[in-house]
Amino acid sequence: AEAALRQNEKLAAVGRLSSSIAHEINNPVDAAMNLLYLAREQTADAEIRSLLEIADSELKRVANIAGETLRFHKQADRPERVLAADLFASVLMLHSRRLRNNRIEVLRRERALKPFECFEGEIRQVLNNLIANAIDAMLPGGRLLLRSRPAVDWASGQHGIALTIADTGSGMNEQTRNRIFEAFFTTKGIGGTGLGLWISSEILIRHGGHLKLRSSTLDRRHGTVFVIFLPLNSPLSEDVPISEPLYIFGN
Ligand code: ADP
Repeated sequence: AEAALRQNEKLAAVGRLSSSIAHEINNPVDAAMNLLYLAREQTADAEIRSLLEIADSELKRVANIAGETLRFHKQADRPERVLAADLFASVLMLHSRRLRNNRIEVLRRERALKPFECFEGEIRQVLNNLIANAIDAMLPGGRLLLRSRPAVDWASGQHGIALTIADTGSGMNEQTRNRIFEAFFTTKGIGGTGLGLWISSEILIRHGGHLKLRSSTLDRRHGTVFVIFLPLNSPLSEDVPISEPLYIFGN
């Protein structure tokens, strides 16, 4: 218990540090982007304009990365009781256009009928990251399977729910699989931040849950399967100073 406490303190300290870094980054980046905009307006030279545009898009990337760390702030003080089906539904809505445009079929198999405790915004962020990744991997089409069911964590014996997000996409090779939880690891070039899975696993660990996956490039029909486990009652309410954002660099 003492080790866990020390770990929590360490996490909280890193959290404070990283969120203040994100603030420090966002303000000057905003200022620089405004200046670039003005500079672009004031020059007719096509070559200079295109250089300024590149500078602008690089800064947007910085802003995105800082933004993802800031979103890690708590929105609520205590965990709320939610239904898995409602979480899935609200996240799916965000992606409805991309799903439709890419002819991705969504299959829902919901068996977790009891509410569970969580920080809703955070778990929605996790589902959002996983579903966005699944869609990215399936372009230009495929099948997204969302499943929820009651589950028992074999390691702790805890009762909870399992949420499955499975796609029929490209899958991952071993090299990629080994690195996906690293901060800033992405195979999407400029289109990715490499923060989605890293943040997701941190959020789940904080909830006393975890994330497992199976992925292969050998079988197009199966692609990638992520399974989230969350305990019915979030341990967070008592153990962790919940006003702190938590953040880990590497392991
Ligand atoms: P990002 O999406 O910005 O790259 P993530 O941390 O969410 O960052 O994902 C890291 C990498 O993991 C991705 O770049 C991709 O290579 C791989 N990945 C994640 N989810 C999937 C998936 N469902 N199918 C295939 N590859 C995936």
